[in-house]
This record gives sequence, structure tokens and C-alpha cells, in this order.
Amino acid sequence: MGGQKVTEDTFTRQLPYSAVAKLTSLLDPGKQWEKLIVNIPRKLGMLDQDEFVPKYDLTYVSMIDERGKKMGSSSTRLILDDWGTQNVRIKHLIKVLVISELYAAADYLSVNVLGGEPVPRPRLETPNGRTGQECQSESDTCSAKEYEDRGTIYVRKHGEDQALSETPESFESLSEEMRLSLRSGLPSADLKSGPSLGSTRAPGESDEIAEEEEVLRQLHGNESILLRQLDFKMLKHVTNNFNETEMSKGGNLIGRGGFGTVFLGQFNNGFKIAVKCLKEENEDNMKQFHTELNVLSKYRHENIVHLLGYCREDANHCLIYEYMSNGSLEERLSCKNETKPLSCPMRLSIAQGTARGINYLNQQGFVHRDIKSANVLLDKDFIPKVGDFATARLAPKGTGTTFTQTMVVIGTSAYLAPKAFQFDVSAKLDTYSYGVVLLELLTGLPSFDEEREDRDLSSHMQENCEDIMDMVDQLAGSWKEETAIAMYNIATSCLAKKKKRPLIEDILPELENLSN
Ligand code: ATP
Repeated sequence: MGGQKVTEDTFTRQLPYSAVAKLTSLLDPGKQWEKLIVNIPRKLGMLDQDEFVPKYDLTYVSMIDERGKKMGSSSTRLILDDWGTQNVRIKHLIKVLVISELYAAADYLSVNVLGGEPVPRPRLETPNGRTGQECQSESDTCSAKEYEDRGTIYVRKHGEDQALSETPESFESLSEEMRLSLRSGLPSADLKSGPSLGSTRAPGESDEIAEEEEVLRQLHGNESILLRQLDFKMLKHVTNNFNETEMSKGGNLIGRGGFGTVFLGQFNNGFKIAVKCLKEENEDNMKQFHTELNVLSKYRHENIVHLLGYCREDANHCLIYEYMSNGSLEERLSCKNETKPLSCPMRLSIAQGTARGINYLNQQGFVHRDIKSANVLLDKDFIPKVGDFATARLAPKGTGTTFTQTMVVIGTSAYLAPKAFQFDVSAKLDTYSYGVVLLELLTGLPSFDEEREDRDLSSHMQENCEDIMDMVDQLAGSWKEETAIAMYNIATSCLAKKKKRPLIEDILPELENLSN
């Protein structure tokens, strides 16, 4: 602060180092920061209103926890850094600390940093008039125990006592309720109203419809960081008990991948979702589940598949996506189930959208590592969305620089750049795979064919293509020569040796300028 006076209006990001260190020493032990993070509102204005929507969801909480553990950094500091970008002032931080009943930290800021009085402790009363002891310490456990009253726990939140649980067994269940509100993205007060998603009532028809409506309301209201945690029972219901008959035969099975099985979920009002269920709970699958959850919960783009929610109950792990009614690009190029071939303009627009999706991801510092036509999904308007982020990894932002990944080569062979076999991971791996997808769009040929002399499409084209116009897919209609040649040249550049290979951001402007 360079000698500047610290006031309650000082931004938390300008707090002196010693103050941040003190806060971390108060909030890191025993993960006290978890109490803080659940009370951070999405908008600062909510601190003065009754409305409360949490800024962080459970995924974020576990990410903070994991990052803290892995990098040895303080979780409190990570939260302050992240939240601080929202122009949070010391007065806001004190307010949330008080709401979270983290009085020692609130007092430290109020007394030691601002030179004021200790923060007032709210005197809680349960609705029947029984007064809770004034809480003198930063621990909220004592107060919560005090406010158990005839099986109902009350918690003071934003100035009001709110009943959280009908029959809590311990304070742990209070905590769980708060977590539930966090997961569902709803303020905990909302958990009281309407049938809970985890309700154990025997569902009659109207109950089911009410529950469906509740889930739909949540799914539709879904915004970037807030993922919905759906109840397994509801998923069972909308997928017809995970009916394994193929969709083409009237069942719910969309398909199976290496990581899990994908089912169609259908609500009474016609809204559809795709539910990917983890095959089995082993270390690799769990890692992929978390990677997909972490990446897709944070990044939203028109050309990245939209993750609506997830379910984690006992051994059941599912990811819930928007349903992509036109399936994968691979399926549409091979006209699976007798679908109409994709026209030239559609192919160009799919090429452009896919590149935008990959570019967005690379710009966020991620390498997808498994770009292929099977992972490009098409919505009802044939807008392409890159999916399957189970193998995504962080890489240096926006550059082709590499880092070394040991032991495992991830990806699908026909789409893998030669360097991938040397465990060389960079955004340029995605460029290579994208080049193969461009070749598929142009020729309609599969990326890998046992029967072909050159099984990989890239080798096949290298050996056989003298004029791309002789090899374009005739099923697509009439190709504009200029466009086909430009697409082919871009594909060739994507398949070049790594040094000469562009990043997707380098080819995007040219691609965007093409027309058909
Ligand atoms: P792998 O994961 O082994 O690379 P994959 O990509 O084919 O294989 P999944 O991503 O699990 O496997 O997909 C299985 C099937 O479900 C595929 O046919 C895919 O097109 C389809 N699918 C996946 N997500 C959706 C979705 N959101 N909407 C519609 N279909 C989907």
C-alpha cells in the first residue's frame, strides 16, 4: 500500500502481506476457509439483500482444496486472490466473515487492520424464543449446537435465522446442507421449498412431475460456474432406468465410449439430456471424471459441449450434458442410421465452429489431446461442439511450447501427431488432430481404415492426393474449388512437422474468411 492508510474501503487485493498471512493462519487450519467460501455471494450487492446465490460451487471448492494440497499454497490465499478480482473491499470481507461466524478473522481485520472495535456477535434466538448463547469465539460449531431446537437447526444467514434441516443428527449434517445448497447453486433457504431432489418419498405421478420441473428449473437457470448436482434417482427416472436398448430401437442407449456409457434422458416436457455414466470406479476413470468436470464447469463456449450437471452418489458417477441430437461428426460423415450426407456449406461451418472451440480451449491454456470427429458433436442446428474433455491437460498458454508427459500416450492413433509418441504435449497436438478432421470433412473418408494401404487418412492423402478436387466427397454436393483448396491447404499445414505447424489461432482468420 506504500504507506497509504488502510480503510474499510481498501480493496482486499491491497491488503498488506502480513494481514493476508495472518488471515491464512486463522483460516487454513481445520479448513475454516470452507465456511467462508460457501457464504461468498456471486455479486457483492447480495450482501445487502435477502437474495443469495453462491459464487463458488462444490467443484471449485474441491479444486481449491486440491490445488492447495498439490502446490502447497494456502487455500485462503487462493480464495482471496480469486474473489479479490471482483473488487472486494475489506468491509465486504468482514461482512462475509461475520456471516460465516469466523469471528477471530473478522476481529483481526476490524481491530488490528482498521483500528476499530471487535465485530458484534449476533444474538441468536430460535423462533420459540429460546436464546442461544452469544458466541465468543470464531468457531461456529458451538453456536450451531446451541440452536438445535426440537430437531430443527437454525443458522443465521444474512441477518435471518433459517431452518436448515428437519432432523439433523449432528452439526455435520448442517454442514452438509450448506454444501448441498452450494452444490445445487441455490441458497440454503430454497432447499426448504418444494420436494428436494433427494427426497425419499414414494413418488406418485404428480410428485414426479413436480420433481422434474424442479430439476428443469435448475438446469435451465444454469450459468457458467454453477453446476447442478442431480440425484441418481432422478437420472434413473428420466433415462428409463438406464435402459440399455439402443435409441434406434426405442431405448435410451446413445452409445458407449472408453470411459462410460451415454444415455438419453427425457423429461415429461420433452427436454432432453445426455447422461454419461462412468463404467467403473477405478483410478483412471475417476481422474477423467474430475478432469471433465473441472474443465467443463469453468469454460463455456458456443463450440464446447455444455455440461449441465453431474451426479456423485455412492459408486455412481455421471456427467449430464446438453443433448446433441445430431450425434457426432463421425456418425454424420458416415451417414450412420441412413442420415443425409452433410452438405458443403455445413462442412465448412462445422470446420469453422470446431476450430473456434479448440482455439478457445487452447487460449485458456488447455490441450484437448483427443480431438477427433467422434468428439465433435452436432446440435439440432448442426452447430459443432467439442466434447470429451477427459484427457485435457494444462499446457503453456497460447504458445506451442511443450511440457513432458510421462508414461502414457493419450489420444486416438490416426489423429496423433508423431511427437505425441515422444510424450510431447502442446497445443500443436490439437492442431494436428484438427488437420485430420478437416481431411475427413473434405473427403468423407474415415480417419483410419484397416483395408486401406495407408491406413491413416493423413498418410493416405499424402500418398494419393494430387488434386483435392479429385478426392472431395461427392455426397456433399458441389464444392467451391477455391474453398476446397484453401481447406486442404490449411489441413496440410496442420499436419506439418511440429516446428512448421501453426496453432489453431493462426489458421482461424483464414478459415473464417472462407465461404461456400
Ligand atoms: P471415447 O470416450 O472412448 O473416446 P467416444 O468419444 O465415442 O469414445 P463417448 O464420448 O463416451 O465416447 O460417447 C459415446 C457416444 O455417445 C458417442 O456415440 C457420442 O457421439 C455420444 N454422445 C456423447 N455425448 C453426447 C451428447 N451430449 N449428446 C448426444 N450424444 C452424445
